[in-house]
Amino acid sequence: MYRSHNCGELNLSDINKEVTLSGWVAKVRDKGFVIWADLRDRYGITQLIFDEERTPKEIMETAKGLGREFVVQITGTVIERTSKNPNIPTGEIEVLVTAIKILNQSLVPPFTIEDQTDGGEDIRMKYRYLDIRRNPVKENLIFRHKVAIEVRKYLSDEGFIEVETPYLIKSTPEGARDFVVPSRMNEGQFYALPQSPQTFKQLLMVGGMDKYFQIVKCFRDEDLRADRQPEFTQIDCEMAFVEQEDILNVFEGLTRHLLQEIKGVTVDSFPRMTYDDAMKKYGNDKPDIRFGMEFGELNAVAQHKEFGVFNDAELVVGIAVPGAATYTRKEIDALIDWVRRPQIGAKGMVYVKYNADGSLKSSVDKFYDSNDLAEWAKITGAKPGDLICVLSGDANKTRTQLSALRMELATRLGLRKNNEFAPLWVIDFPLLELDEETGHYHAMHHPFTSPKPGQLELLDTDPGAVKANAYDLVLNGNEIGGGSIRIHDTDMQATMFKHLGFSPEEAKAQFGFLMEAFKYGAPPHGGLAFGLDRLVAILGGQETIRDFIAFPKNNSGRDVMIDAPSPIDEEQLKELKLNISL
Ligand code: ASP
Repeated sequence: MYRSHNCGELNLSDINKEVTLSGWVAKVRDKGFVIWADLRDRYGITQLIFDEERTPKEIMETAKGLGREFVVQITGTVIERTSKNPNIPTGEIEVLVTAIKILNQSLVPPFTIEDQTDGGEDIRMKYRYLDIRRNPVKENLIFRHKVAIEVRKYLSDEGFIEVETPYLIKSTPEGARDFVVPSRMNEGQFYALPQSPQTFKQLLMVGGMDKYFQIVKCFRDEDLRADRQPEFTQIDCEMAFVEQEDILNVFEGLTRHLLQEIKGVTVDSFPRMTYDDAMKKYGNDKPDIRFGMEFGELNAVAQHKEFGVFNDAELVVGIAVPGAATYTRKEIDALIDWVRRPQIGAKGMVYVKYNADGSLKSSVDKFYDSNDLAEWAKITGAKPGDLICVLSGDANKTRTQLSALRMELATRLGLRKNNEFAPLWVIDFPLLELDEETGHYHAMHHPFTSPKPGQLELLDTDPGAVKANAYDLVLNGNEIGGGSIRIHDTDMQATMFKHLGFSPEEAKAQFGFLMEAFKYGAPPHGGLAFGLDRLVAILGGQETIRDFIAFPKNNSGRDVMIDAPSPIDEEQLKELKLNISL
């Protein structure tokens, strides 16, 4: 028996008990005649005491040789501490050691294994197994486990069945590059790792599973923008005989359940906003609605005056920044510089100070009088004390720029509180998206998404205007997940592939199996997937998904701990009939 108790559970009610504990030596304080050591395991820390008067000599000697992170087993008696530590559950007791066994020694760890460590990110990733011994990392992993368990409970209670789908598959287009795996038994051929189990879950619906879910790894070979991982986890779901409304209701239920169980938060309303409205009001298809600052479009009141910049613009749009009328010239100039940075790309910014006394002062006073500016205030919802920031230019670009400014200012003003949760559905996404570079349309969600009823004709005349039965769940300015009602008809799927630029042969080669399956009685179906990593990070009130992944990859897609990716040896290459030419 390695232990009778763990290191986090002994307290005053255990006084005089003889106990056996095992764990890691977190800290040793050697005062000569008395030695204290903190023994740590997943459950907590228990203080051990060795003293010259009560502890046998050879045990005293062993204690003196203890180093940080040694693994030890001790037996001893629980006694009351003289100086207590109210901050930990075991803080009122200590264990007077009567026997000790060193189970394993340890090198001196490269960083301190404490809540506040001296180790930088790189070194902690290299020795992630040591990092996991630290409370913040350990607690995040436990938190993730709790979320995953609640997801499984909820969906299982709703009648969903968890089914595993294969990892060695054929490409499923989700908008990224595939990771590929060479096949030894099929020379010159490759598997693709799933970007998601999309086609398989649809086939499970054809197979009559009715309600499917899976907590599953997905793989996408993308340039890693901030806080993305090449392999990540989805809560993947699909349902048969459903309309969009049925799906939204089930997953609104799941989200409410998680917020309630994990955060103790009851969500009052779960708004639904069309994609067009989200873009118009927030310049963003994943709006953070915890705070106002909605866009006010000013074309009608700001154009046809003498100000050429606005007259030439497709869109003039502003936001009211609460309480910011007191910004100094310097602060406003800094904001203007901020929107002009290449990452944002605005040409400039016009502002109006709506002073607390009700007066209006703008950077374009030459062209607009206070009646004009009062109109702007009305449209942007500005109140005395607010600052109105106005951008103009190409409609789409300007919306994106103003959205970035809105988020930045809200962050600076402390309006994005991480203990507030405001979920919403964004619905009616466009079916297709124009790729500016190639001039081709591609599926905004994926090629299996169905257009809204009655919009099929538009595909030929105005493809960009076709709306899809597609929806995203947004939480606090993050896309938590998305899905769609699928096409379940072979002909319709073939039409869709045609519009996406697949020749019939290409479509058959890549998705013949799916179109074939649709010929055998495919039920109407739809589904969605939530990103588990992001969901957990947001519920945990943190920003980075990496902190909730046991063994994450760095920004170049490397696992620096196991040193992957890495070359393979000649023999393997030969077996695979692969030649590397760099
Ligand atoms: N497969 C989709 C995705 O990974 C989700 C879905 O449509 O269900 O985004």
